[in-house]
Amino acid sequence: MGAQELYEEMKLKLSNVVPDVELRYKAELAYQINQLKAERNAVILGHNYMEPALFYSIPDFKGDSLDLARKAAQTDKDIIVFCGVRFMAETAKILNPTKTVLLPSDKAGCSLAASITAEDVRQLRRRYPGVPAVAYVNTYADVKAEVDICCTSSNAVAVVESLDSDTVIFLPDEYLARNIAQQTGKHIILPTMGGTEQADTTLDVQKVAGSMIGWHGRCEVHEKFTVEDILAVRQQFPDVVVLSHPECSPEVVAASDFSGSTNAMIKYVEQTKAPHYLVLPECAMGDNIAAANPDKEMLRLCMVRCPHMNTITLEDTLKALQLTRYVIDIPEEIRLRAYRSVERMIRIG
Ligand code: SF4
Repeated sequence: MGAQELYEEMKLKLSNVVPDVELRYKAELAYQINQLKAERNAVILGHNYMEPALFYSIPDFKGDSLDLARKAAQTDKDIIVFCGVRFMAETAKILNPTKTVLLPSDKAGCSLAASITAEDVRQLRRRYPGVPAVAYVNTYADVKAEVDICCTSSNAVAVVESLDSDTVIFLPDEYLARNIAQQTGKHIILPTMGGTEQADTTLDVQKVAGSMIGWHGRCEVHEKFTVEDILAVRQQFPDVVVLSHPECSPEVVAASDFSGSTNAMIKYVEQTKAPHYLVLPECAMGDNIAAANPDKEMLRLCMVRCPHMNTITLEDTLKALQLTRYVIDIPEEIRLRAYRSVERMIRIG
């Protein structure tokens, strides 16, 4: 597809969310990226939180973490360019280690992934011996290597229920743990760590029987949404349908009309007809849904943005392909153990 053709195609989709002057500039960049992608035998994966001009121009596959992990595992291309954040690019490398995996920005971290270390998990497992441990995919490879299985927001309930245990360690997102505990009928416990470890671990395990043992990680984006925000929007738009992500607090989830993974929210909007929608994930996803559903009114709270997802730009994606940067590497011993946890999750679906 030529540069002009690509611009026309983007315009068709994005004229209601991106001004034309920006669209022309970005279409030119996207054209160069697509040329280089073909020359270098690369595949581009784009997370639902990417900004609209990138989202609708360069990814071969778009979706949530679970979708993209599956695509990363299946690709036969030489290079995987991950337009998402670091833990996602690491998951691609865990699943497909012979490929070169590139992350366009070295600043694309995540507050959840940064909230827990492999040593934190080892301490928890020493304190609660025999209790299975689940890590949300929003963790780094060395943390994934220490747990029994991973999960995403779309399969967390199925993963927890697949474990043959009424007590489960669930890391690191406190709010996701609280929401999943509610759905699986468990009581939530947030242990305090870091002091002297308890001597009698048997007693600790008995005390938490039937519980979900969480961690104090938070998504710095979703924790900012409040029930007051929802009430204020409902007051202004009484017919609004509110969609939240389970990384929001249980109170925000309860005040919403629907809660689910980013893919589940996109499907929900596609399959329903409401006068207004408010989506509480990262603001760019609201733009992407608006572009795909021009007949629907999307409200966004763009005062809350993910600083990590926003570091992924078309400019840096072009540089990533030109300079083969930033390459994701994981020590093989860690990758093999992390692979077990991720692969076990993918088998559950
Ligand atoms: S939106 Fe939250 S969970 Fe997602 S990358 Fe940003 S900080 Fe991490």
